[in-house]
Amino acid sequence: MNVNVLGTIYTVGVGTEKTDPKLSTAYGYCDPSVKKIVISELERDPDSVQDLDAEARKILRHEIIHAFFFESGLHENCDYAANEELVDWIALQFPKILKTFEESGCIK
Ligand SMILES: [Zn+2]
Repeated sequence: MNVNVLGTIYTVGVGTEKTDPKLSTAYGYCDPSVKKIVISELERDPDSVQDLDAEARKILRHEIIHAFFFESGLHENCDYAANEELVDWIALQFPKILKTFEESGCIK
């Protein structure tokens, strides 16, 4: 799959620790140098959340937010753009914010 991030196309893929060693330390990553996002193929285990699809979507949103910060020129010299807590908050809350925007008619 490809996604458009501020006019730049990023490829989005799913991998495992075996196919992509970077996934051994994270559930996903964004590599802006090659315009690539990869998320881990989540597997059920005793510690996993019940809804793995929802978790995968949240991880993908997180990595897409990183791509947006990078394509905005904020990736390297901006503390908040590299703040994982903020990126995760946006990834978690964005669907709710979008719903509120749509309900209020303040977009378009
Ligand atoms: Zn991150």
